[in-house]
Amino acid sequence: MTGFTPDLLNRCISCGFCLPACPTYALTKDETSSPRGRINLMRALEEGSLPADDLRLGEEASFCLGCRACETVCPAGVRYGALLEEWRDRQWQGAARPPVVRLLMFAVNARWRVRLMGLLRRHARTPDRPAGPHLMLGCFERALFPRVSRAALRLLPELAVPAAQGCCGALHAHNGDSERGRALAAELGRRLPGVIVTTSGGCAAHLADVLGRDRVKELSEYVTGRPAAGPPPEPPATDDAGPAPLPARPLRIALQDSCHLRNGLGVWREPRALLERIGEYVELPSAGTCCGAAGSYALVRPRDSRRVLDAKLDEIEAAGLDCVAVVNPGCHRQLDQGLRRRKSAVRAVHLAELLAGPIDHLEAAPRPTNR
Ligand code: SF4
Ligand code: SF4
Repeated sequence: MTGFTPDLLNRCISCGFCLPACPTYALTKDETSSPRGRINLMRALEEGSLPADDLRLGEEASFCLGCRACETVCPAGVRYGALLEEWRDRQWQGAARPPVVRLLMFAVNARWRVRLMGLLRRHARTPDRPAGPHLMLGCFERALFPRVSRAALRLLPELAVPAAQGCCGALHAHNGDSERGRALAAELGRRLPGVIVTTSGGCAAHLADVLGRDRVKELSEYVTGRPAAGPPPEPPATDDAGPAPLPARPLRIALQDSCHLRNGLGVWREPRALLERIGEYVELPSAGTCCGAAGSYALVRPRDSRRVLDAKLDEIEAAGLDCVAVVNPGCHRQLDQGLRRRKSAVRAVHLAELLAGPIDHLEAAPRPTNR
């Protein structure tokens, strides 16, 4: 069992500036559920003043969303995300790891199982082009939202998309197996040489951590940084989406940031700038705070996940939107399910789909009336 890296743990000066940024502290107003409270628990574990099976340790290691909002406001530069990974490396071994996480990790552990998940889904694929840049398919996006990679390839036809890709290891790194998480990222880096473009903020942050920032571009970053970056192309007619009527007015679009993309990689301006080009962009007050998906969190702690999501859904519905753009498959699933549960007319749509257009499932939706 490994310990904490002393420099990570000792950096916190217990100032408490992070408390107002923390979504779980906002729910409980309990110091134990704050970043500072959790770092104190980690210290107690490290010093041996709390036994590893203390219930508070187990509870808080899983209650934390891992959203890293605390990092962005910390004056001492505490790398909370790295600390959380080390904490779960200690806390979530064997039977202590939530069963649903064990199942997910098993599903994505072998490349053939990842391929199998996407086999029946019509995700993007091209012949291998060794030079890159490559589009990363992602495990869950290829299974749940294969239309996102198709849209990304329509938008960026220069990308190579080999189907033989594995998991990037973010799931492992965030759930108590950092070593495997890093090994999987390194393996994916070898399979996809050159720049890797991703449509998942969570995968982008983990890959950049292992492979280096210059090898990884999240889709909005890549599109914005292209030499020929101008207005988005005219939506091509494809058999993917079928004929769709042009909207009579600009789409009203908000964005849900991906926590790891915003708080880990500092990418938040780029998706907004792109959305402003294609519609009427609406900044929601909570756009930068976690939606409660948080990787496997929505499955491990569904009740807390919904508590985090509910206020955000209220805000989305009150804003008279056509759609809320997402840049991560976890947020996509979370908002999609939440909005459907409420029978909302607002749709969760990936940024790649909005840029590549046309979008049949968006155009078919009834127009919002609460404006
Ligand atoms: S803001 Fe940073 S230094 Fe201050 S308590 Fe939070 S984690 Fe520690
Ligand atoms: S990662 Fe998010 S939920 Fe966890 S302590 Fe930091 S702000 Fe709170």
